[in-house]
Formats: sequence, structure tokens, C-alpha cells
Amino acid sequence: MRRSTRRRRTVSAYREGDRTVVLIPARMSAAEEQRWVGVMLDKLAAQESKRLLGDAELAERAERLSGQYFDGRARPASVRWVTNQNTRWGSCTPSEGSIRLSHRLQGMPEYVVDYVLLHELAHLLVPGHGPRFWRLLDAYPRTERARGYLEGVVAADRLPHVPGARSE
Ligand SMILES: [Zn+2]
Repeated sequence: MRRSTRRRRTVSAYREGDRTVVLIPARMSAAEEQRWVGVMLDKLAAQESKRLLGDAELAERAERLSGQYFDGRARPASVRWVTNQNTRWGSCTPSEGSIRLSHRLQGMPEYVVDYVLLHELAHLLVPGHGPRFWRLLDAYPRTERARGYLEGVVAADRLPHVPGARSE
């Protein structure tokens, strides 16, 4: 976060490599600052997830990931979003070279979408989830983190929803 004395009202945020820079007016209180950082992070994340909505972009991304982690050996014939897949994050039909990602991933962090894409790309090379499969995915540094994120989403879905206030 950077405070700027020249900045009077506007708050802005952008990514700088791995970091996110949030520019805020110098006079903002700590509470306001906290609130704005949250707002701006949500806004950036929403912009980024919107950017990967198209199937064409998804295919490009798959190609890039395959090149980066699998020496380009995984070559899907098609990659697309589907809305009829609620129990799986992604699926793949190796005989057709087709990969489908659940629309439920839309809006999740990019590293999570990338992980699911890589997972399905890996199935084009190795069927099943044996040691050879996971060795392929070890190349992606955020595999564990992404799996943890998705497990968290599943666990949160199953939490009982308690309406109303808690009684003491
Ligand atoms: Zn799998």
C-alpha cells in the first residue's frame, strides 16, 4: 500500500508482478484504509476473472500452461466452460482431446483456474491419479495451495446455514 499526499480522494489499485499496489490518499483513517483495500482487491479480482470468461481465452491459457509446465506436450482439441458440471471442477475426454471446466470456477483466483486446467491437461498425458500423474502436476508451484482452496470451497458448501442471530 502506498499513501500519497497528492492524492485527495481517489483510490486505485493495480498488480505489480506478484504484489498488489493500492494507492490511497494520505489522510485516510486506518479503518477507511482497511475498507478500501478490501474493496479494491475484490474489484481487481472481479476484473481478472471477467478476463477469462471466453472459451477462446481459456484455450489460449491452456496452450500457455501446457507450454510452460508440460513442454507443450498436452494439446487439447477443445477447451470450454460448461454449466452442467456441478460435482466436478473439470473433466476431460482424452480420446477427443476435449477439456471442460465448470462455470463454478469463474470468479475464483486465477491460480485455482490454472490448476484445474493443468490437471485436465495432465490427463491428456496420463490417465488416472497415480504417482506419474502427480509428478506432472508437481511442476506447478501452486498445486497444493489450489487444492486446499477447492477443498475449502467444498467444505464451506456443506456447512449448515444457521439463519438469524446466535443466542447466548
Ligand atoms: Zn483428475
